[in-house]
Amino acid sequence: MAEFCRQCALKYLGEIEAEHTAGGCKPGETFWELCEGCGDLVEIDHEGWRVDARLSKPGTHINRS
Ligand SMILES: [Zn+2]
Repeated sequence: MAEFCRQCALKYLGEIEAEHTAGGCKPGETFWELCEGCGDLVEIDHEGWRVDARLSKPGTHINRS
């Protein structure tokens, strides 16, 4: 079965399947996995989210003018 980070699971598989990406490690820890959606080795948190992508998610940027 293909491995996906949560962002890609949502994109390619839908919300229900994305739930299954959680639980790869303990809360507060991360692990590395080859995501077939990203096509790269990505760092994933305990909920299945790709860590670097989550940090740059739209809306998290502070707009300083
Ligand atoms: Zn991915």
